[in-house]
Amino acid sequence: MFEKILIANRGEIACRVAQTCRRLGVRTVAVYSEADAQARHVQLCDEAWLVGPAPARESYLDAERILEVARRSGAEAIHPGYGFLSENPTFAHACEAAGITFIGPPAAAIDAMGSKSAAKALMAEAGVPLVPGYHGDNQDPEHLAEAAAEIGYPVLIKASAGGGGKGMRRVDRPEDFATELAAAKRESAASFGDEQVLVEKYLLQPRHIEVQVFADTAGNAVHLFERDCSVQRRHQKVVEEAPAPGMGEQRRREMGAAAVRAARAIGYVGAGTVEFIVHQDGSFYFMEMNTRLQVEHPVTEMITGEDLVEWQLRVAAGESLPRGQDQLAIHGHAFEARIYAEDPANDFLPATGLIHHLRTPEENPRVRIDTGVREGDEVSIHYDPMIAKLIVWDGDRPGALRRLRRALADYQVVGPTTNITFLQALTAHPAFSAAELDTAFIDRHHEALFPEPQAASDRVLALACLAEFLRIDAEAARRAAASADPYSPWHATSGWVLNDDNHHTLHFRDGDRDISVTAHYREGHYLLELPGGEIRARGQLDGNGDMRVDLGGVRLTATVVRDGATLTIICDGLTHELVCHDPLTVGMEDEVREGSLTAPMPGTVVSVLVTAGDQVSEGQALMVLEAMKMEYTIKAPADGVVEHIAFSAGEQVSEGAELLAIAANE
Ligand code: ADP
Repeated sequence: MFEKILIANRGEIACRVAQTCRRLGVRTVAVYSEADAQARHVQLCDEAWLVGPAPARESYLDAERILEVARRSGAEAIHPGYGFLSENPTFAHACEAAGITFIGPPAAAIDAMGSKSAAKALMAEAGVPLVPGYHGDNQDPEHLAEAAAEIGYPVLIKASAGGGGKGMRRVDRPEDFATELAAAKRESAASFGDEQVLVEKYLLQPRHIEVQVFADTAGNAVHLFERDCSVQRRHQKVVEEAPAPGMGEQRRREMGAAAVRAARAIGYVGAGTVEFIVHQDGSFYFMEMNTRLQVEHPVTEMITGEDLVEWQLRVAAGESLPRGQDQLAIHGHAFEARIYAEDPANDFLPATGLIHHLRTPEENPRVRIDTGVREGDEVSIHYDPMIAKLIVWDGDRPGALRRLRRALADYQVVGPTTNITFLQALTAHPAFSAAELDTAFIDRHHEALFPEPQAASDRVLALACLAEFLRIDAEAARRAAASADPYSPWHATSGWVLNDDNHHTLHFRDGDRDISVTAHYREGHYLLELPGGEIRARGQLDGNGDMRVDLGGVRLTATVVRDGATLTIICDGLTHELVCHDPLTVGMEDEVREGSLTAPMPGTVVSVLVTAGDQVSEGQALMVLEAMKMEYTIKAPADGVVEHIAFSAGEQVSEGAELLAIAANE
């Protein structure tokens, strides 16, 4: 085993690797960018070296600099995590040349799978079933369009070098092929510096099932069963589970054997994942092999009781696989939910911002949280917006699902918009309980998963009022304590004694509604006039910032977080936002110019598709933005005339910047 390794990554995966190293007594060297100086992974490792400024290509992707740190710090090996340098054969080579062990497969194996096109050719040879498609070298758009016609629509265009859903476009009609091809190539060039694509049949309602494989240098190879990752948004996984529901023993053996065959065909060593796309009838086709640890590896760890990072370290150090195939078995069921800073209601656009408040469910052997962030950290535009992975285990799927729902209800993040409420809706959906899984799950259940925002309930309003009163009281008490005359009536904490009839009205903005609640101060409690009637309410803060309340005799615990004028009320797993405003300023700050179109997030303008004066129709593409390596098309909200264009191609835009303005037709 190694004495010391370098972890060439950040965030939750760097923390995850560091934890296993600590358990094994292996010392760790972290690397970090200027933006990550205070990051959790930096604190968890034994030492940490600065490798460059915030942008990944100048820090976490700077292979030379990272190798130099490895040499200078005396690390014997480098764990690349996932993403960044993990699937870069040049880097794997460079490590080898520098006499440092790359904790991953041989460069040749990464190379073999690096191109989806080349990988498919190899897999065909090894007798692994493939989706019908064209994965050859002829990249002439007309030739590709012909191939698409032959395959039959719908087709999927994929970047050969792709990953993370980038450079992937579904095309339903031949007339859209050329535009989508161009977009896929642009995305691919921007993300991977390579334009090659492949075209394949787009399977309707397939499942994504992948098999974890492991091989050692002595020629042993095993699989650690499958994971079902069918529930996806933007072709990206959001909830994963193991084992795959409905998987029979026979099929499991077949897929496991095909995956091991795939690994053997390329002389694989270490942890890898063979991804299959699976028809509802159970037939399965090779999609790609990821030559690294996967984000969702924890569900496999939960059902097998193995530590896959430990396996990686042992194999890289030249040891044999810790277990043979017949020593591996599935126990129970595990789920992973990815908690992202993103806005589900806005096509899951990544979100950024400071994590103002963070509370996580209690961890135990059945509830695990893999994360790289803490309260006060910033989710920045530079890196992946994943906040945490929530992993749960139980003896069977219904038990694990119940645990997952509970843990999600206990997960509180205030600051950037997150997908937690969405994950709650998803995991509470009857079709999810019934394991009716496929990659179109989210689209199919759109209505249930994206409910119209509800008006604040009386309970929410009562909690908001109590929180405000307690805050005002605490502030008055603080001032009294600091004052020369602690008995001055100006510091009174028992209601509004200067107010004739002891009442006070609070004004809230709830979405686009205004609500006022009048509270009468009574001895020991408040009488609140809520839309649904009057209620007696009282509460107190406990030491953790939680509020214990009594609402009309019902006792509850709630959390209310104030950020500026915004109150986030969290109670019983439900989160609601209210703005507590001063009626005099209403309408001033949020007067938005009609028809203006703003940047949903910081990014770069890729192309402007219209000119000022153009007549446009609703839904027409106006501008293409690139942010976090993905392209977003800004579309006309209504028929109208383009009045003004604020940016041209190549320019940077900040979040909320007005991109163009449209005068709607009368
Ligand atoms: P990436 O490497 O960019 O993540 P993958 O090839 O792994 O791309 O595919 C990601 C997802 O896209 C799959 O999990 C699946 O949901 C969908 N997908 C891929 N290929 C097909 C296909 N031929 N038909 C339908 N969906 C597909």
